[in-house]
Amino acid sequence: MHALKTYPGSCHCGAVRFEIDTDFPELTMCDCSICRRKNALMVKVHEGQFRLLAGENNLTEYRFHTHTARHYFCKVCGIYPFHRKRVTPDFYGINVHCLEGFDPVDIPVRQAVGAAMP
Ligand SMILES: [Zn+2]
Repeated sequence: MHALKTYPGSCHCGAVRFEIDTDFPELTMCDCSICRRKNALMVKVHEGQFRLLAGENNLTEYRFHTHTARHYFCKVCGIYPFHRKRVTPDFYGINVHCLEGFDPVDIPVRQAVGAAMP
C-alpha cells in the first residue's frame, strides 16, 4: 500500500504541469475507443486532490459520444495527461505515466469497461 503523497506530473514538453494527492488504491485500464488508442494507465482522483499548476492555455479538449467526459491533451506535444470522467465528473483520471517518481509495481490494475457503456 502506498502512503498518501503528492505526485507532480507533466506532459512531455513540460508546458502542462500539475500535481495530485493519492495513495494509489488501484489503477485502471479502460477499453473504450479512446483509452484503447491512448493505452493509458490511470489513477482516479477527486478534483480536490488535483491542482493544475501550469499550461491551462496549452490544453486542448476533446469530447466525443455523450460529450460529458473531457479528454485533455497538450497541443504542443500531444500527450494526454488527464481527463474529466464521464460517470463521475468531479473526478479526474490521471495518466500515471505522466507522473514523476511513480512506480506502478504492486498496485492492482482493474480493467474498466468503457466500451460496453451505453
Ligand atoms: Zn506538452
